[in-house]
Amino acid sequence: MTDFDHIKGLFHLPEGVIYLDGNSLGPLPQAAPARIASMVRDEWGDMLIRGWNKAGWMEQPGRVGDRIGRLIGAPPGTVVMGDTLSIKVYQALASALDIVPGRNVVLTDNGNFPSDIYMAEGLIRSLGAGHELRIVDPEAVEAAIDDRVAVVMLTEVDYRTGRRHDMANLTKIAHAAGAVCVWDLAHSAGAFPVDVLGAGADFAVGCTYKYLNGGPGAPAFIFVSPDHIDKVQPALSGWLGHEAPFAFDLDYRAGSGIERMRVGTPPVMALTALETSLDIWDQVDLADVRARSIELIDMFIAGVEAGCPSLTLASPRDASIRGSQVSFRCADGYAVMQALIDHGVIGDFRAPDIIRFGFTPLYIDANDVKSAVSILENIMTQRLWDQPRYHERQTVT
Ligand SMILES: *Cc1c(COP(=O)(O)O)cnc(C)c1O
Repeated sequence: MTDFDHIKGLFHLPEGVIYLDGNSLGPLPQAAPARIASMVRDEWGDMLIRGWNKAGWMEQPGRVGDRIGRLIGAPPGTVVMGDTLSIKVYQALASALDIVPGRNVVLTDNGNFPSDIYMAEGLIRSLGAGHELRIVDPEAVEAAIDDRVAVVMLTEVDYRTGRRHDMANLTKIAHAAGAVCVWDLAHSAGAFPVDVLGAGADFAVGCTYKYLNGGPGAPAFIFVSPDHIDKVQPALSGWLGHEAPFAFDLDYRAGSGIERMRVGTPPVMALTALETSLDIWDQVDLADVRARSIELIDMFIAGVEAGCPSLTLASPRDASIRGSQVSFRCADGYAVMQALIDHGVIGDFRAPDIIRFGFTPLYIDANDVKSAVSILENIMTQRLWDQPRYHERQTVT
């Protein structure tokens, strides 16, 4: 059984803040500053270039990938770290299209995160091979899988509403129709148990700065099914994905297994920060996280619906089809969220009218939920949000 009280103490959370935005940027592990400082001083400082061998920097993307693998049901040697999620989406989709020749549709839904869709558009343009991006409603994905679909590219949990696709079922349907699946786990990894192998996912990608608490700009991960990895010819054929990077050959030969999905020099400092969070994840059972997250969200929904009748639930009420976040529609959502943040409850706003709250049992408990509900209720009933300063838009919402 996960000891959540102990786990909460392993994070730095500022005084007076209830942090309901860990689905966008997780908080700082207490151990991170000292670990990063010692990496900088003892490894970069004293080892200099010898750190690549002596401190294991070169193997770090695979080593950390295996630790992420444990959280998403991926066996050792099938996950590697690097780059940003947008890049990993591009890589996964390019590889997926490569292994399904003769079909020209990439199917996705309009609940997908825009960057995934933009990357698909860019890839299709550079391939110039007549692929078409088909974007349908989330509920229409299943019916849209036909014999022209090469790749079904979906984000499991909708970033705005928290609606969750049935990954195993859609993958099964896609496979039966002869397509392969790319799953984006940005709002899944660290939010609930994920089983990429059990679901039969062909490719899966995700970031590590959201529920996984790796810090701003923490590197992304990519999983490729053992069934495909040896057939995949990486579109981003960088030297560190080469079979022998230090042979400096003039022709590219893909490295063995998942190593071929590496591109260039790994972000050692960022991976080191992420490792301090993974030390915490080693003490956590994701089934406990899921159970606790459902409890907290159900409590929050009940409280908000009782105290703030003008807000309408934009997330599924049924926890089995919901991720670890909950959203409400709110006409003056931007100002309401600014007022909330000013009163110590940090969530976020997604245009045009969604206020969104992430529930992360590693450091959010029932008392936090009760306080957040009463602060929100006060802001709504007293109209505290209706002040000019709360209407001024900032760059990052
Ligand atoms: C957060 C998120 C991204 C962000 O991609 P980056 O390249 O890391 O900025 C992409 N896709 C999805 C589904 C996300 O939730």
